[in-house]
Amino acid sequence: MDIILLGPPGAGKGTQAERLVTNRGMVQLSTGDMLRAAVREGSPIGLQAKVVMDAGELVSDAIVCALIGENLDRIENRGAIFDGFPRTLAQAEALDLLLAERGRKLSYVIELEVNEEALVDRITGRFSCASCGAPYHDRFKLPKVDDTCDVCGGHDFKRRDDDNELTVRTRLAEYRAKTQPILPFYRERGILHGVDGMGSVGEVAAAIDAILDS
Ligand code: AMP
Repeated sequence: MDIILLGPPGAGKGTQAERLVTNRGMVQLSTGDMLRAAVREGSPIGLQAKVVMDAGELVSDAIVCALIGENLDRIENRGAIFDGFPRTLAQAEALDLLLAERGRKLSYVIELEVNEEALVDRITGRFSCASCGAPYHDRFKLPKVDDTCDVCGGHDFKRRDDDNELTVRTRLAEYRAKTQPILPFYRERGILHGVDGMGSVGEVAAAIDAILDS
């Protein structure tokens, strides 16, 4: 089963995708993660993408579609969770092709519906353990012991370069202008489902499970 998690930055797509990976043996394909890895490696794609990502704008369709194609070739028959992809209508059309070429098909597109002001708070406060990646938040989830990761005991934490208010506002505007117009494409096919993304992680997870098991 291949699915898309759609929603603006900070809606909780990554958190929900990780849960589906653990509980259902699916594979998370996050173009944001792939691009950040390319930036860390200092590859030509990474160098090009870094400037665009720091501005909160969208990386070219050609680059992200190529990344998704390469990763789809590696996951064999496990179900894919597309996280942060597609973000434009051109990417949505390209995804149909990439899937068809591999004998795969989208089962569900789940849109996490959220309130934009809450997102700015969620994103600008988030940070994670530099060693194990455990997620934290300045207001909603600080480590139990100051400067010590609850999970691995690490003392180094990191924040994404693009999680500042100015960039977040651009990322939200990009979502409204370029990604929201994809919704009718999937609605017409009858595979689009909305989920209230403002609930707790557990509530959102239960709503997603209900759709996937329907
Ligand atoms: P994310 O981790 O999904 O919030 O993505 C972080 C940044 O990576 C975005 O603000 C874009 O600059 C870039 N990016 C990630 N996925 C895509 C995509 N599908 N299309 C274009 N740019 C993307």
